Amino acid sequence: MQGFNKYYPPDWDPSKGGLNKFRGTHALGDRARKLDQGILITRFELPFNIWCGTCNNHIGMGVRYNAEKKKIGNYLSTPIYSFRCKCHLCDGWFEIQTDPKNTQYVVTSGARRKDEDWDPEQNGGFAIHDTDKEGVAVDPLVALEKTAGAEKMLNEVHKPRIEALQGLSDHYNSDPYSLSVKARHKFRQEKKVEQTKRKAEDELKGRYGLPSTLKLVEEDDRAKEEAHAQWLKGKQDLALQGNAKRRKLALDVVSFPTSSSAASSSKRPDPVSSLKARVLQNTAARHSSSIFGSIASTSTRPKG
Ligand SMILES: [Zn+2]
Repeated sequence: MQGFNKYYPPDWDPSKGGLNKFRGTHALGDRARKLDQGILITRFELPFNIWCGTCNNHIGMGVRYNAEKKKIGNYLSTPIYSFRCKCHLCDGWFEIQTDPKNTQYVVTSGARRKDEDWDPEQNGGFAIHDTDKEGVAVDPLVALEKTAGAEKMLNEVHKPRIEALQGLSDHYNSDPYSLSVKARHKFRQEKKVEQTKRKAEDELKGRYGLPSTLKLVEEDDRAKEEAHAQWLKGKQDLALQGNAKRRKLALDVVSFPTSSSAASSSKRPDPVSSLKARVLQNTAARHSSSIFGSIASTSTRPKG
C-alpha cells in the first residue's frame, strides 16, 4: 500500500529515502504492479463502438476499462501505445493501439470496430484527402503518362530555367571586385548631388525663415515655368482688381450729381453704384417733401 497518510514509523530513516522506498512500494501503487514487464495500468475509454470478438456483444463508445498500457514502437519519434482491455461481458481480451500516422486508434485483436467515419463519397461528396494513396493499384498507362509528362516538364522547363539562373549567377559572381567598385562609385556620386542639393535648400530656408521640416519642390525647368506662370497670373489679377476699384470710385463721383436717366443712358455703370445713386436721390426727395408737409401742417393747424 502507498504511503497516503502522514504516519511516519519510528524506525523510518529520512536519509535513506521516502516512505514508499521504506515500505518497498511504488508511488503509483497497484497500477504499477506489472511495471517490470513495461506495463502500466491506466484508465482507458473506448474511442469508438466495437463488437467483442469473444462474446460478440456490442460495446459502446465511452466505456472505460483498466487497460494495460504498453509502448510497442515508434512512428518517427512518436511512441505507439497499445491498450489491452478485458471485456466486461466475458473473459476475452481485446487490444487497441494508437496510430500516430493517421491520428487515430486501431483495433488490433479481439474485437471488431464499428466503422462510423464520415465518408464524403458515400454521401454524394468528394474525398478531400489525396486520392492516389500508396499501395493503391494504379493504371500502369496512367503512371507511365505521368512519369513521361514529368520528364518532359523537367527537360523543357525546369532544366533551361535552372541553367539560365546558373548563368546569371555566374555572370554576377565572376568579378565581384569591379562590380563593387562600380556600385560604390555610383553611390558616391549620388550622395554628392544629394548633399549639394540639401545645402542649397537649407540656405534658401535660412534666408526666408522657413521651417526646416518644409519640403521644397524639385527645382527644374518645368517647375520654374509653372511658378512663372503663376506669378504672371497673380500680377494680372492684382492689376485688374486695382482697375476695378479705381473705376468704381470714378463712377461714384460721376453718378452722384447726374439724374438717373442720364446715368442709365451714358455707357452703363455697374449696378451697385447706380443703386446707391438712386437711394441717395430718393432720400433727398423724401427729405424735401417732409419739409413741405410740415409747412402745410403748420398752415392748416389753426383751422382744425
Ligand atoms: Zn466479450
